[in-house]
Amino acid sequence: MPADSGETLDVINPATEAVLGKVASAGATDVDRAVKAARRAFDEGPWATMRPAERQRLLLKLADLVEANAQALAEVESLDNGKSVGIARAVDIAVAVDTLRYMAGWATKIEGATNEVSVPFAPQMQFVTYTRREAVGVVAAVVAWNFPLLLAVWKLAPALAAGCTVVLKPAEQTPLTALMLGELIAEAGFPPGVVNIIVGDGPSCGAPLVAHPLIDKVSFTGSTEVGKLIGKAAVENMTRFTLELGGKSPVIVLDDCDPATAAAGAAQAIFFNHGQVCCAGSRLFVQKKMFDRVVADVAQIASSMPLGHGLDPAAQMGPLVSREQMERVCNYIDIGRTQGATVVTGGARAKDKGYYVQPTVLTNVNQQMRVVQEEIFGPVLTAMPYDDLDQVAAWANDTSFGLGASIWSNNLSKVHRLIPKIKAGTVWVNCHSMLDPAMPFGGYRQSGIGRDLGKAALDSYLETKSVFMAV
Ligand code: NAD
Repeated sequence: MPADSGETLDVINPATEAVLGKVASAGATDVDRAVKAARRAFDEGPWATMRPAERQRLLLKLADLVEANAQALAEVESLDNGKSVGIARAVDIAVAVDTLRYMAGWATKIEGATNEVSVPFAPQMQFVTYTRREAVGVVAAVVAWNFPLLLAVWKLAPALAAGCTVVLKPAEQTPLTALMLGELIAEAGFPPGVVNIIVGDGPSCGAPLVAHPLIDKVSFTGSTEVGKLIGKAAVENMTRFTLELGGKSPVIVLDDCDPATAAAGAAQAIFFNHGQVCCAGSRLFVQKKMFDRVVADVAQIASSMPLGHGLDPAAQMGPLVSREQMERVCNYIDIGRTQGATVVTGGARAKDKGYYVQPTVLTNVNQQMRVVQEEIFGPVLTAMPYDDLDQVAAWANDTSFGLGASIWSNNLSKVHRLIPKIKAGTVWVNCHSMLDPAMPFGGYRQSGIGRDLGKAALDSYLETKSVFMAV
């Protein structure tokens, strides 16, 4: 459907810089229409009285449809975002399907509690008391471009399982798979108005959406900077909100482990999805005696990684999502150099066409440098040696973020002593960036508020109503 203004956005293929197509660019009046449609569907439509088993059935049907269209969705994701088709299929689409099925199961397992109360100021009375969990209402879901379909499903699946209706705004850089998902949602048989998808940029579409008075909850995935704006706008209306934000996750290598395994893990932790991962392992800490060996191995992996477009099966890393992102990442590398970092490998744009950046490893860095403190969101790793566990725990926690961390060691006692010291929503041991629909995912500190995935995500789309009945 065109925008009221008639305006459109170009969708760019980041591997070729060519325009893939145009999509409607929604503004405030389009947002208002979408929110009112979601509101009507929540208050009046068949969705309002639909039984949980029917919501479950629709979500399972949608999962089947996404699975049946996995290859087409993966190819479009690759063209739009730059990631490889193989990764899109194995990670983005597969996890989206699993998340839909996992959350479908919760639709029929929403439960309150019966409580034994005393009511001290009414000793002569008796009560039947219980809690009900009720859908929070109309949800605005605003997501980033790094896992476009997956992030949309992380919001939609628990919201729909809970009985909410949704207005989804994908990132303006990567709107295509969300629009395809909209067609599959209609095909699955969700009633009109239950899911509304609008495309537009942050200021003219995202901002009026999250500030709309008929929105009951905002679920956001994106940068910490925008997350703060959204939190403020939501509080103005007392809209509930969940924020999944940025990160600067440490990879901590202890000196008992195999250096080649740790290096391969560290390379995967930062270079997966071209470093455009909120929980990317962007800060490597290696215990002193193994530092040179592990860094040399990571640099070797980085320098031998073939770069190419997402449809090329030989490519191990594709372009970044946009010219803006490529320039931002290259600018950070320059800031690192200026502040004294050594570029061990990489350090520049790659190829003349497409938004490619060389996988980059920086050493001679310290806690004060911007490349160590700020989220770069690209294939750039900083590496530092450390002496002991207390020092590495302090450094690991010494940024404003707290999304993820990985520890590489086979010394159980050291690992278990380290885990409670790390301020992060997820700690991985001998792996990194592992996710499952059953495991809550989210951040401590400036990495966010609330959790996606797991039962924690479902709970965030439910209100609790307490019922007292005098008997
Ligand atoms: P971004 O914050 O610039 O944009 C995210 C979304 O917010 C987009 O849809 C954008 O249009 C919208 N937006 C922008 N300004 C807005 C405003 N004023 N009001 C409402 N909406 C607005 O982030 P990005 O560059 O698209 O994504 C990268 C960021 O996302 C990184 O910081 C990354 O760490 C984070 N991220 C976090 C997670 C997580 O689960 N914690 C997952 C993926 C990405």
